[in-house]
Amino acid sequence: MFNNKVAIVTGASSGIGKETALRLGKGGASVALAARRIDRLEEVKKQIEALGGKALCIEADVSKRDDCKKIVEETVKAFGKIDILVNNAGIVDKHRPITRCDYDWWDEVVNIDLTSVFNITKEALRYMEPAHYGRIVNISSIGGVYGNSGAAYSASKAGVIGLSKNIAIQYAGEGITCNCVCPGPTPTELNTPDKIATFDEEFASKCNKGMNTDLPFADVSDQAAAICFFASDDARAITGQCLVVDQGWTL
Ligand code: NAD
Repeated sequence: MFNNKVAIVTGASSGIGKETALRLGKGGASVALAARRIDRLEEVKKQIEALGGKALCIEADVSKRDDCKKIVEETVKAFGKIDILVNNAGIVDKHRPITRCDYDWWDEVVNIDLTSVFNITKEALRYMEPAHYGRIVNISSIGGVYGNSGAAYSASKAGVIGLSKNIAIQYAGEGITCNCVCPGPTPTELNTPDKIATFDEEFASKCNKGMNTDLPFADVSDQAAAICFFASDDARAITGQCLVVDQGWTL
């Protein structure tokens, strides 16, 4: 399905990004794996190679603009082009409401969860635009759709949706699509009982009001399947859309 395609996956060292990278690699794509933990990326690379695919590891902190540029440049240097960009790297914000979200925390979350998407996509479009081809898949969250997470995270993930729709408008009909996958709670390193224990409990319980919290969680393969659909040519006529993948949690 992805033969001869070149893909970038940020945050590919674990969770949803790792599962997506493996799925793209298995489907025949050459995959550039970007994250901070190079040892973890090397493991993912080995797994992709064992599946018969090609991979490249790029050590990068997406909160740094130079590193965002590096991800794109190293991918093009190694594989010659970029067909698919999955902006997945992200952190959660501990469900802090605005009054308990300090300025440094706001900056850190917005930088990693929103500004990085702007920076990496802007660089990647320099190559997608002349090729008249691109599949950009941005990972937002139900927090971006419903505002039911911390202030910085909800704002960043809503920003990702707005930016995606805006990119979709710019390139509509020109071979470049831009869509969002919005995961609900999904067991990964970002969503462990230890991490949940650090959440602002009072605000988190307000956020969960009205949610179907008894339902099972979606898993990383559910998220990767949705991401790979948007990344595929089956989705060539779909752009500017958000797909919530949450087992019905938010219904
Ligand atoms: P994860 O912690 O397993 O993966 C996050 C990845 O992002 C890791 O590879 C991490 O190293 C990378 N990352 C974080 N900060 C980075 C930085 N500054 N530079 C480079 N890489 C960085 O968690 P996940 O659940 O797989 O998260 C993937 C995406 O899904 C995130 O954008 C997250 O907001 C979103 N999401 C997750 C859930 C969930 O419940 N797991 C729900 C909604 C949205």
